[in-house]
Amino acid sequence: MRIIRTIPELRTALKARREGGNTIGFVPTMGFLHEGHASLIRQCAARCDCPVVSIFVNPTQFGPEEDFAQYPRDAERDQNLCLKLGVKILFMPEPSEVYPTGFSTFVEPGNLGNVLCGEFRPGHFRGVATVVTKLFNMVQPNLAFFGQKDFQQVAVIRRLVKDLNLPVDIIAAPTIREADGLAMSSRNTYLSPENRQRALCISRGLLKAEAAFRGGTRDAEALLAAAKTELNEMDEIHYCELVDALTLEPVSREVNRAAVLAVAAMVGRTRLIDNVLLSPSADTSHFISHLGD
Ligand code: AMP
Repeated sequence: MRIIRTIPELRTALKARREGGNTIGFVPTMGFLHEGHASLIRQCAARCDCPVVSIFVNPTQFGPEEDFAQYPRDAERDQNLCLKLGVKILFMPEPSEVYPTGFSTFVEPGNLGNVLCGEFRPGHFRGVATVVTKLFNMVQPNLAFFGQKDFQQVAVIRRLVKDLNLPVDIIAAPTIREADGLAMSSRNTYLSPENRQRALCISRGLLKAEAAFRGGTRDAEALLAAAKTELNEMDEIHYCELVDALTLEPVSREVNRAAVLAVAAMVGRTRLIDNVLLSPSADTSHFISHLGD
């Protein structure tokens, strides 16, 4: 595995790979890797000759009051994990490499980036869309892997790949959870033992709604109610919404196309997000990865 910190070095290494006939797979991350990241990297390594991982805590997707400075980092542990998972190139640029002096061009995702988390994190998806476009241009992957945990991010990226004609296939993979249901996240490290326990009400509510859906419930109100009744341990609920999986528009009556039941909530000073895909199609895992194709 090569650890690369500059764009010219990355381009040279990948050019050789491409000329050797390798398919390039890419997993962008912000590091402090956990089993959710590992599942994406495993899929990438299984499907591509040259799995590339980036670790970059992207300043432009954090708001001024958010946790950019505190975001957890552990480069050495991340490097060891990537090595073990068969990563060929680990790209770890400095912010000044990605955003040199004079940088001024952004990718604006439009309405998909304004709803749900976009309402509470203005500019967040603009930062995400910008850095992902830049990373795609640096790596030029054949396939790129993202987690359904950040389903709005997946929707924004699928849209931008279409709108800007980027030659990359987007694969989304299911959310990996702790044994007790909590969706894995680098930010879980912020939680005190007590708040971690309280945070479980999010997955409990979502998994309850998912079970009701599997049991045949299609009524939007009933599905939302199943999740909402569990959320009373949260300090603040930013949203609990049922939306169309592609357009992110609210589903107000019945779920008859793929929908996402999504929650964002504060426990203490930590903002957590989670969701479940409610798909009338039987094979959800296939559906997730091809959603929107
Ligand atoms: P991050 O490092 O948080 O920016 O995440 C990097 C990638 O890992 C994104 O595509 C996330 O959606 C994905 N990811 C984060 N947590 C999980 C999880 N629990 N299960 C699956 N994928 C995840």
